[in-house]
Amino acid sequence: MMFRNHLIVTAAVAIFTVKYVNFAMPLWVVLILIFAGSLLPDLDHPSSTIGKRFLFISLPLAGLFGHRQITHSVWPFVLTAWALSYDTWATPLAMAFGIGYFSHLLADFISDSGIPLFWPHQGRFGIKLCTSGGLLEPIIALGLLWLAIIF
Ligand SMILES: [Zn+2]
Repeated sequence: MMFRNHLIVTAAVAIFTVKYVNFAMPLWVVLILIFAGSLLPDLDHPSSTIGKRFLFISLPLAGLFGHRQITHSVWPFVLTAWALSYDTWATPLAMAFGIGYFSHLLADFISDSGIPLFWPHQGRFGIKLCTSGGLLEPIIALGLLWLAIIF
């Protein structure tokens, strides 16, 4: 999914989340964490928005695993769930960050690229509602934003 549409899907997930979850911290902090989390999966791509800024991480990650591999699987969620099992002051921060991360995978899940949920197994999972960069992609992203606003 294109960067702009990723942002729209993240905005939809953020709006939906802050309506129903009380993070007990200022809204602007929650939103920054959600949007930061949504950028993280593409850290495995040196020319992505975040990858360009952290080449010392993105280049080795891309070299070791390639793009849309381990960072687009269940493993980051397993790690987050483990981290959340320790209830600390950082728990709500990790939750907001994880929700942002989820929004990125959701966006890739609905595009034709799919995601390797059970990496290293290379089977790709997704519902393929649209082609990445295609005409339908922004319509679906805006549709999710509309749903998040009305529900
Ligand atoms: Zn991605």
